[in-house]
Amino acid sequence: MATVKEEFGSLVFDDRVMKSMLPAEVYASLKKTIDEGKELDLTVANVVAAAMKDWAVERGATHYTHWFQPLTGVTAEKHDSFISPAPDGGVIMEFSGKELIKGEPDASSFPSGGLRATFEARGYTAWDPTSYAFIKGKTLCIPTAFCSYGGEALDKKTPLLRSMEALSQQALRILRLFGNTSVKRVISSVGPEQEYFLVDREMYNQRKDLIYTGRTLFGAKPPKGQEMDDHYFGVIKPRVAAYMEDLNEELWKLGIYAKTEHNEVAPAQHELAPIYSTTNIATDHNQLTMEIMQKVALRHGLVCLLHEKPFAGVNGSGKHNNWSIATDAGQNLLSPGETPYENAQFLLFLCAVIQAVDDYQDLLRIAVATAGNDHRLGANEAPPAVVSIFLGDELNAVLEAIETDAPYSGIAKTQMKLGADVLPKFNRATTDRNRTSPFASTGNKFEFRMLGSSNSIACANIMLNAAVAESLRIYADRLEGAADFETALHEMIKKTIKDHKRIIFNGNGYDDAWIKEATEKRGLCNYRTTPDCMPHLLDEKNVRMLVSHKVYSEVELKSRCEIMLENYCKTVVIEANTMVDMVKKQILPAVAGYAGELAGSIAKKQAVGSDVSCGYEKGTLKKLSMLADQISQYTAELETVLLGLKEADDICEESYAIRDTVLAAMSKLRVVCDEAETVTAEKYWPFPTYGDLLFGVK
Ligand code: ADP
Ligand code: MG
Repeated sequence: MATVKEEFGSLVFDDRVMKSMLPAEVYASLKKTIDEGKELDLTVANVVAAAMKDWAVERGATHYTHWFQPLTGVTAEKHDSFISPAPDGGVIMEFSGKELIKGEPDASSFPSGGLRATFEARGYTAWDPTSYAFIKGKTLCIPTAFCSYGGEALDKKTPLLRSMEALSQQALRILRLFGNTSVKRVISSVGPEQEYFLVDREMYNQRKDLIYTGRTLFGAKPPKGQEMDDHYFGVIKPRVAAYMEDLNEELWKLGIYAKTEHNEVAPAQHELAPIYSTTNIATDHNQLTMEIMQKVALRHGLVCLLHEKPFAGVNGSGKHNNWSIATDAGQNLLSPGETPYENAQFLLFLCAVIQAVDDYQDLLRIAVATAGNDHRLGANEAPPAVVSIFLGDELNAVLEAIETDAPYSGIAKTQMKLGADVLPKFNRATTDRNRTSPFASTGNKFEFRMLGSSNSIACANIMLNAAVAESLRIYADRLEGAADFETALHEMIKKTIKDHKRIIFNGNGYDDAWIKEATEKRGLCNYRTTPDCMPHLLDEKNVRMLVSHKVYSEVELKSRCEIMLENYCKTVVIEANTMVDMVKKQILPAVAGYAGELAGSIAKKQAVGSDVSCGYEKGTLKKLSMLADQISQYTAELETVLLGLKEADDICEESYAIRDTVLAAMSKLRVVCDEAETVTAEKYWPFPTYGDLLFGVK
């Protein structure tokens, strides 16, 4: 058997393969494109394409595809085979530089949020040479960006690459001010921790709600949930262990650094964390990871649920976006340095993050907004919908000392002057103990914890990179013109702390008192739902910032706002329709069936003699009949609400109506159905229960 070392990346056209297969000058030129973003010329592309094809064919590939991330949130691919007719009647395997660089899938069936009306229907895909090509099944996959012919981004990768570029440009300006002339690029990196549930496939197949919506829409609380706290980091069950082993192998072959895995808080919930990488590669890898997770699960008779809230009453699933920025020489810019000057630089980057999160808290919230994630944020299991930063005691004390010109106990000096004093070494072990903060400093990185488990991490990182680029731009503009750099720097850091400290919160984010303080005293945003936050994407300050850094154009933003709201509406409507279907075809017949059995038994008993007691049967029958009437009535109400939606033609209006009426009608209906489940005999209940699903995998 091959070792992990041999297997790792065996399906990836990575640097090792390029180096060994490409002529030296082609390799050098491709490397320049990858490392510095230089344009690639066609002759080089031809050689690369031929090598890629040979390599892929040798590994059994017959097709290639441009692999991209349209705005649906999943990945898309259209397979073409390598074959080309040969004059002798046979075929040859061909793949040209042109085919590698550019593809033209029919864009018309992907969501474009109005972009299609304005621009030409066709789109094209363009190779992203910074993310390695890989083989999936029998197909060579080439990571690409997806744009309209007018150049508008129809995907998530393009704005992500633009945001990385914006951040690099502005960070370089700052580094130059600190005398660093050698750095060529600043790179943001991400390590996303992915949560998921595993359920038995047979059981899954019996639940229409899981099949159509990815989450359960009904289900009474089982006798046992997560209250014993016995699942978190618990012993992994054999079926799950076999799954994880298989999953790791698949991911490793694809060059994905799957590193850590453990059981999560809820029963049947697990987590996988990779080693971090450059943001766009981490994004590609996270998309692939989610896909492979689902595929491998099926092989094990399991289904992997990536929904944010598959089960009511136990924790939902999120994704922790560990984010940092570093120079191309590997210096982490969020790490305190060795010299006073490096410390001042660190504090400036820290301030940039603090200001970015404060100024663009709405964009961070928007970046994680989906119908699914609305169930988690603010439900005391995930961070609240209010964005704030946790810094930890030590960093906090440093910032306070700077802000107030007070002595900082960690150093001997009476008063700290940036650029002159050395900061004390932080004890990093003490910084990562607040699990309730949406945005926590965890040593030399920040952990953004509001992402939903099914979110593409692209959105959050686009906003994060862009917002930090904007803080850095403001600082660079000011400092480049300063007469005395050090004084200006000191003043600016002080002022930033003063102006933005409202976003820093080191307490318990789940506490209601915090939400009150955050919104009433500090004026922070609290957007509970997707319809609440999404329209703010188009707020003037947000459009101005994102457009000025060329991350999005205004039309691109409008299209995204529309698509996200449309997606929200469709998701909830599908859920509501699924509920109606399940109630009418499964739940009511089950309840009626059991009620019928009870009625029959009462009749039989009474035939024996009027003095035979039927208290239990009658009581239960009464209760079931009452519940059945309520279920039927609430279903009719939900249907009426759904019909009423047809009248709203503005997508914002429709999303408000859904938030206020459809979701409410759904909850009301669920309550009575779940109650009916607790009264109905088990053999009548038409689908697996919460207990079956949560504890069914051994
Ligand atoms: P935790 O305490 O949350 O388990 P870890 O330190 O193990 O945290 O890291 C969690 C994630 O953060 C991993 O995916 C890891 O690779 C990632 N990570 C570590 N350093 C960085 C960094 N500099 N930039 C981005 N992600 C990082
Ligand atoms: Mg974590």
